[in-house]
Amino acid sequence: MSPSSPSISAIRRKVEARERISPADALLLWREATDEEMRSLASLVRARFHAPDACTYLLMRIINTTNVCVAQCDYCAFYALPGQQGGYVLTEAQIFAKIDELLALGGELAGFNGGFNPQLSLDFYCDLVRAIRARYGDRIELYAFTIAEFMYLADHASLSYADTAQRLKQAGVRWITGGGSEILTEDFRRRHSKFKYTVAQFFEAQAAIVAAGLRTTATMVIGFDETIDERIEHLDRTRRFQDEVGGQESFLCWNFKPWSTPLGAQLHNIEITPAEYLRHLALSRIFLDNIPRIRTSVLTQNERALEGLLYGADDFDLPIEDEVTQKAGATISLNFDRLLDVARALGFHPACRHVALEHSSTVL
Ligand code: SF4
Repeated sequence: MSPSSPSISAIRRKVEARERISPADALLLWREATDEEMRSLASLVRARFHAPDACTYLLMRIINTTNVCVAQCDYCAFYALPGQQGGYVLTEAQIFAKIDELLALGGELAGFNGGFNPQLSLDFYCDLVRAIRARYGDRIELYAFTIAEFMYLADHASLSYADTAQRLKQAGVRWITGGGSEILTEDFRRRHSKFKYTVAQFFEAQAAIVAAGLRTTATMVIGFDETIDERIEHLDRTRRFQDEVGGQESFLCWNFKPWSTPLGAQLHNIEITPAEYLRHLALSRIFLDNIPRIRTSVLTQNERALEGLLYGADDFDLPIEDEVTQKAGATISLNFDRLLDVARALGFHPACRHVALEHSSTVL
């Protein structure tokens, strides 16, 4: 490793002293730090929260309730407009079959993610959660739903975010996760998802979710056409929300899969490299000093995601399905032993997180 430049040395001293880095520091790290320096700094912050060789994983699936959506994000290969051929809504029996398959494989987390479907009301989703809770009790935990869907359901029902959160909580929802955040700058949203709510609305909704006593997470997607400044703005907004409101129990970053999307066609279907993904993961770990769990994306990086454990991550999913990213080019391996062996070969001891048993705990 070449000697650190004077500025990088100053940032290293900050991190060693447990001082917070600024957005300007983050920009400088991104531009000037070597991969080895990023990895080393990320490991220093990781060690504040986790033993160096410890990591955890969740065996899970995303259940895509409906692909009918009016939001028309230009990075999406998943949706069908209302009335368009190929639109679907899963039946309760189909959802139960997916949960049964997950349980049989040893998984216990079902994340729900679907389109903004004008035919489906808040009551539909509440009834669905009640039916799942009645059938499975605490054998399964649900990430239901994403903040983006939550905002649409609130609008559709003409209810406040606070009232919507209470309705979902009464139905048995415990988690509403940060999905739908992509890049949290107003300009990015105007460029690519103008019907998917503003950044201000996103955080207003997340604050209502936390106030209702529901659990939540932070997410981010990189590799569209966003600038590094936009990435850092997203991280900065996330960190400030955590300071001011709290409640984000983890941060998961994955990368845009471009295939069959309008934006992907414009960008010639070029994805960011695994090296860029890992570098961003390290930057996130260094910057987000107030979020304990940083997650690396097996769904979009496959085996290379496990290297993220060396770049500040401490947790990952082993997914068995997510139609949204699969339609845009993600591939899924059910060879879990192979994936866990990759983590072991890197020096980690992966432990399964039993999320369904932890519903009453405050740490997940
Ligand atoms: S990303 Fe989600 S909200 Fe956007 S068009 Fe696709 S399904 Fe709809």
